[in-house]
Formats: sequence, structure tokens, C-alpha cells
Amino acid sequence: MSPVSFIDEPVYGWSAGRKRPWLLEQLNQLTRNHLERCTDYRRLMDSVEGGRHAQTLADLYPLSVRLFKQNRLLSIDDDEVFRVLTSSGTTSQQVSRIYLDRETAALQSKALVKIMQPWLGRQRLPMLIIDHPGVITERSSFSARGAGIQGMMVFGRRPVYALNADLSPNWGAIDEFVESHRGQPILLFGFTFMVWQLLQALNEEGRSLALHDGVLVHSGGWKKLQDQAVDNATFKARSQHLFGVDRVHNFYGMVEQVGSVFVECERGHLHTPLFADLLIRDAQTGNLKPNGETGIIEVLSVLPRSYPGHVLLTEDRGRILGEDDCACGRMGKYFEVLGRVPRAEVRGCSDTVEPSKAEEY
Ligand SMILES: [Zn+2]
Repeated sequence: MSPVSFIDEPVYGWSAGRKRPWLLEQLNQLTRNHLERCTDYRRLMDSVEGGRHAQTLADLYPLSVRLFKQNRLLSIDDDEVFRVLTSSGTTSQQVSRIYLDRETAALQSKALVKIMQPWLGRQRLPMLIIDHPGVITERSSFSARGAGIQGMMVFGRRPVYALNADLSPNWGAIDEFVESHRGQPILLFGFTFMVWQLLQALNEEGRSLALHDGVLVHSGGWKKLQDQAVDNATFKARSQHLFGVDRVHNFYGMVEQVGSVFVECERGHLHTPLFADLLIRDAQTGNLKPNGETGIIEVLSVLPRSYPGHVLLTEDRGRILGEDDCACGRMGKYFEVLGRVPRAEVRGCSDTVEPSKAEEY
């Protein structure tokens, strides 16, 4: 198989027996490429045992996502940088920077299309974006939210923004959108907290939108919602009630691995697509956790070519619910995310790959 012909394979069609050896080969190849091209990655890997040629997926050495906040990790020349993605963060030390070349950016877009098509269909749908227009036009640095919206825009047509710059609802735009697409399939997209705020506003105003035949796709952290004691079931019920949509799909993804997203199925489970996988590690020992047990989420993706982000230890907790046997019929692992890892636990698990330590060698 040529390096990227996997993009045309069924996204949820490979069972573990076929997927694992292929994925391992792809990821080992990426490790070799990044070792060759990224000095800082090489230095980090020199300071740890193993990880250079893994025999199993669990042997691949994960970089902590925090390293992308502290280091400029890229496997391309500066003049090949096509786009820099940044995560949200309040100070510059808290912002991840992900360097994309044209190849990786294109691969990410293609993968996202392949992953979303089974849920959204092939036709571009009229799209209501639950955000404000400035989120993608403020281009000085491309924010994660802007990149996410930009990525989803390929599934929509004639996008309308539901919010004003101050994040208040733009009722005029919303009403016009609802009116002109009555009875048609439409796509709503937004970051989970933004969507929740709009739901709150609808609730306060005693309004509801008759967006029947619509699908809501949302993503982003649950932290702010957990603070308000809102869980996925409540969120979904409220969305169906106030937007009128039939289907609601959350997805899990991160700026460090744009394109390989994990979409929630009809049974409420997040699914691994062909291009990505997920492992759960014990916060203290780093050992793999069996299915059903909670630990730190590690994400694997074959998409990152321009930066060493193919094997990453996140700061999220979760557990794998099963593999190849979800009641929805899709192959692959299915899992749930259970919030952020407490600070102290993150440190315990990934201090071995701190660059400061690597520098000492
Ligand atoms: Zn499922």
C-alpha cells in the first residue's frame, strides 16, 4: 500500500486483526521519519529506553502533549511550514504550536472528510455555525477553534454564523437560517461550550428552533460544562428539544492531531477511525490498562507527517468500552472520555520525557 492510500479504505471497516499490524508499521515508519528530521524529537527519544522500533502499539513511546507547549517540534524546514495551529491557552507558555506542511494539512482535511462522511453524507448541507465570524478571520495565529470550524466547513454550504462578536446570539441570522431551510437537512456545528451557551439563551428567551432533519456536530472540552454539572445525556436532550435536531454527535479530537477525530455513534460511544487508535495508560506506572478501566488517554494517528505528533499522551482521562463489537456495527475501539487528568497525575506519568532532562544527556 502506498503511504497514503489508506485514506480510501473504509473508516470503520477494519477489525483489530487487520488494523493493528498495519497501524504498527505506519507508526514505526513515522517514528523513523521524525527521528531523522526532528532534532528535538531525536534528543527526547535518546533519553528514554525503547520506542524506536516498537513490537506492539503499546511499545511506541508517547510524547506528552505538553511538550508542544514548551518546544518547537517540527520535522520540516522552516520554509515548508504552511500553517501553524495553536491551542487555546491564557498565556503563551500554555499554547501548543503545531507546524503543518502542505502534505500534512491536506492529509488532515482528507481524513476528516472520510471520517465525517458516514455521519453526514456526501452532500454539503446548509450550515449554521455556532460561533462568530471573527473566529476564522483573525488569522494572525490560527486558533484551534478557527481551525476546527474551517475543517468542518467542507461539509456545509452557505455557512451562517449564529453568534455576534460578543458571543451573544445573532437572532436575526438564526431566524433567517431556520426560515429559509425549513424541512431540509441541515448541519449545525460548534464547540460544545458555545453550543451550550446558545441553548441557555434559547431557554431563557423561551424559544426553540424547528431545525428538524438537522444534525448537530459538536466538539471541545467538557470542563466548563462539568463545572455546571451538565453531562452528555443532558446536553443531547436539550439540543434535541431546543434545536429540534434528530441527531447529535459529539467528537473527541485535539489540535495536536487535527483530522483524526473520534465521533460518537448512535449508542453514545466514541469510535476510533482507521487512521487512529487509542490506548489507556495507568497514571502512575504508565502501564496499559485493560478495557473497562479508567486511565490516561494516549492517542495514535498516522496523519502527523510534519511534526512528531503520531503518538501522544493526552491530559484526558477515559476508558475503552470495547473493540469491534459496538452495537452500532462499526469496527474499531469504542470509548468514553471522563474529563481532565489532575495536574499531579500528569506529571507523574510523563516527566521522563521532559526536554530539560533530555538536555542533560
Ligand atoms: Zn458504536
